[in-house]
Amino acid sequence: MIRAFIGLGANIGEPRRQLMAAMDELQGLPKTRVTGHSSFYSTAPLGHVDQPEFLNSVAQIDTGLAPDALLDRLQEIERRHGRERPFTSAPRTLDLDLLLYGEQVIATPKLSVPHPRMHERAFVLQPLLELDGDISVPGKGLAKTLLLACSSQKIARID
Ligand code: ADP
Ligand code: MG
Repeated sequence: MIRAFIGLGANIGEPRRQLMAAMDELQGLPKTRVTGHSSFYSTAPLGHVDQPEFLNSVAQIDTGLAPDALLDRLQEIERRHGRERPFTSAPRTLDLDLLLYGEQVIATPKLSVPHPRMHERAFVLQPLLELDGDISVPGKGLAKTLLLACSSQKIARID
């Protein structure tokens, strides 16, 4: 079993309900157990900024699925929630990102791990640190150090 972390985000529909449903669906994946989840955070959109605020959270799982199989399963869950991909950073009913897969570094055409932008996102690092205060992002450094550089990003813990 490998410990992996999944970033969850939603900003249209009913974000809280969608995130909670997605946590259940992660628990239902083969060879996989959800072993922790962070609080929920309300996050100002980055990139395409003219859209509703995001609700974000991070789930910790122990899984026997290979990374590419896990990504396929995450995308299946996104599709079940009506996810469309009209453009990068578009509003979404559910976004599931594979943040970390053990300490592995993976670079294939469809999968980059660690997730390529996680080290510069407070809405990923802060919930991740709730789950493991000493965690590192391979190739980037300690999550708590990386978070210090994100101090201008507005996120609010909402539970
Ligand atoms: P974003 O989350 O950056 O807004 P998407 O969720 O639409 O973008 O993902 C676009 C593509 O990113 C996916 O089709 C997937 O193949 C690729 N991808 C690469 N690495 C990852 C990863 N670690 N987690 C999730 N998707 C990834
Ligand atoms: Mg994504």
